[in-house]
Amino acid sequence: MNYEAVIGLEVHVQLKTSSKIFCSCVNKFGSSPNTQTCPVCLGMPGVLPVLNRRVVEYALRMGMATNCKIPKYSQLARKHYFYPDLPKGYQISQYELPLVEHGWVDIDVEGKTRRIGITRIHIEDDAGKLVHDESRPVSYVDLNRTGTPLIEIVSEPDIRSPEEAAAYVRKIRQLVRYLGISDGNMEEGSLRCDANISLRPEGQKEFGTKSELKNMNSFRNVQKALEYEIRRQTALLLDGQEIVQETRLWDAGKGVTHSMRGKEEAHDYRYFPDPDLVPIEISDQWMEEIRADLPELPDEKRRRFMEQYGLPEYDASVLTVSRETGDYFEEAVRLFDNPKSVSNWIMVELMKLLKQTDVSIEQCNVTPAYLAEILALVDKGTISAQMGKEVLQDCFGTGKSPASIVEEKGLSQVSDESELEAVVAKVMEANPKEVELYRGGKKKVLSFLMGQVMRETRGKANPKKVNEIFRKMLEG
Ligand code: ADP
Ligand code: ZN
Ligand code: MG
Repeated sequence: MNYEAVIGLEVHVQLKTSSKIFCSCVNKFGSSPNTQTCPVCLGMPGVLPVLNRRVVEYALRMGMATNCKIPKYSQLARKHYFYPDLPKGYQISQYELPLVEHGWVDIDVEGKTRRIGITRIHIEDDAGKLVHDESRPVSYVDLNRTGTPLIEIVSEPDIRSPEEAAAYVRKIRQLVRYLGISDGNMEEGSLRCDANISLRPEGQKEFGTKSELKNMNSFRNVQKALEYEIRRQTALLLDGQEIVQETRLWDAGKGVTHSMRGKEEAHDYRYFPDPDLVPIEISDQWMEEIRADLPELPDEKRRRFMEQYGLPEYDASVLTVSRETGDYFEEAVRLFDNPKSVSNWIMVELMKLLKQTDVSIEQCNVTPAYLAEILALVDKGTISAQMGKEVLQDCFGTGKSPASIVEEKGLSQVSDESELEAVVAKVMEANPKEVELYRGGKKKVLSFLMGQVMRETRGKANPKKVNEIFRKMLEG
């Protein structure tokens, strides 16, 4: 029996607004515990929350970027549960009337595009953090994070494999970064993902019973947790057992999921509209303002790069992975008008260095102007392509300008005719046998003779010129 995986993801994204969602505390990561709190985010009795307008704006940006509908009215709702990191005893979220609903994103997996439905996007507040002391039987509560604005993006169960799930989360991260609404950093928890997964026999329409996986803090872990869960559920089903609907925790160290709790139902949360917060009404004018302010999004930018610069789809995808990468490329092309060549150098040489050093493209020493300068030097034949790579590496490490590196290292290619003729003559004199062979028709020895010239000039001879001179002197 073959089973098909059915996956739906719930992604929480921390918004990088300057203040929290319902109070004026600063929204910042990394301060000492409990220094960024006030009676509102501490959930003191009698306080009144006030919704941060910027949070709504950010959520609407995401809604527009994911092709969603934006209802005129929406509402905040209390979702009740007890936990020591939740001082109010409820989370302020949205239930019946979310801010955003019914959209989609396209993802690319193995050269195929798949459309994943977005059920809804709502806003809510984050909880605090428990800090456990390994050496003592105590836990501390840090409420700095309480009231950090979140959007929760709920997908339709349209995802069919762990690879697609990872690609979907990458797409969400790419979008929130393009929109400038979040760092989208999974390792640091500003983007968190819960994965719902069930299996069904191939060809069956109805969904099976799902489990919900939590605690994956990287794309790799999302994928691995789902792969594990597919194996676990497959084994149970083949054995004739039933899947229990439950929440399971991913243990990255052991590479397994553990049952955490039985699944709670919506009624367990006793949702109701928050009486302290008025309904949100979105005016047409506000919508227009937000829409007018949207940046060019990755899919659009990729299409434009293919059309405007004649790039293959692969190049266009790599170069639009972030806004910064796209901007870098365009600036370099503005200064050196050969898009494919600029693309190759960025994708191969520059990205290799960025990866090795974990530096971001907008912060690296090789500015677009420097890259363009290197490409111009190679193009003019001042340096060879190989030397260009060395100059790039040097510039990346030291921040010195390409011209000064070429100068300092004496890298300039020798293209001077008479200088090269002298070297060629010398090499011919030293290798009479090879010259004989060449003239007798064994043209292959030319590469040996060329190699000798390169050795004499320590790689600096312009190969095209040397080749011409040899042909002239051997054949003429
Ligand atoms: P719940 O009532 O458990 O919150 P929802 O219907 O709200 O479930 O869906 C939560 C998430 O689970 C969504 O991302 C949805 O796509 C996904 N989902 C729903 N049913 C299934 C299923 N049978 N298998 C896999 N994912 C599912
Ligand atoms: Zn506060
Ligand atoms: Mg639900």
